[in-house]
Amino acid sequence: MANEQYPKRSLDEVEILANGLNISYFTSVEIDLTVPIPIEDIAEHFLGYSIDITDEGLFSDPNFLGGIDFEQNLIYVNASVEDHDGRYAFTVAHEIGHHVLHREAYLNDKEQGKREILCRDSGEKPQIEIEADRFAAALLMPSSVVLETFNRIKPKPKASTIGQARGVANEVIKEGGFSNVSNTAMINRLIDLGAIKAAYQNGLVHKGHRGSLITRMVRGTLAKLKSFR
Ligand SMILES: [Zn+2]
Repeated sequence: MANEQYPKRSLDEVEILANGLNISYFTSVEIDLTVPIPIEDIAEHFLGYSIDITDEGLFSDPNFLGGIDFEQNLIYVNASVEDHDGRYAFTVAHEIGHHVLHREAYLNDKEQGKREILCRDSGEKPQIEIEADRFAAALLMPSSVVLETFNRIKPKPKASTIGQARGVANEVIKEGGFSNVSNTAMINRLIDLGAIKAAYQNGLVHKGHRGSLITRMVRGTLAKLKSFR
């Protein structure tokens, strides 16, 4: 899929669009925004997609995590992630990200004959995949709920090693009720929102430049993990 046809979105814009979808959805069902985000309900009942969990064709390769067909209103999820609640929800949310961020550009470019976006787990992600990942994280882990939960945890947890970061993410998941989010996805979200770094800057771990170095170290460790989901 050529990237040139899609306008590049800033991360702030992606955050705003994901928040906007959550607000529209929760307004439509007349309940307050709460986690876990009912991602299947958003996909199926709010946006009108069917979810097809499949291991056929391309999806016999587990690296093809999911896909979205804009003409048939179908979201594909690789059957290999079905039993992993965090990965399943993230994949559905990622495909919803393509719906919000990329569908219009796709429809304007119909002569290309592309009916769908297929999502492959690869080291170097194309821009639209990075955007859809960020959208999924923002949709499943709204910044306000993550930060409010993180700030409620006392004493402030340490996250100077990857093991400690996993512990912090676990606490936020349990305390906040993020039951459809993986530990790795929550660590990434906490870093992206500056929550882990904020703890260092408050001097709760170390003062000085150590925080940003540690943040880079944690990021570096995560980059080595095969999947961010
Ligand atoms: Zn994708």
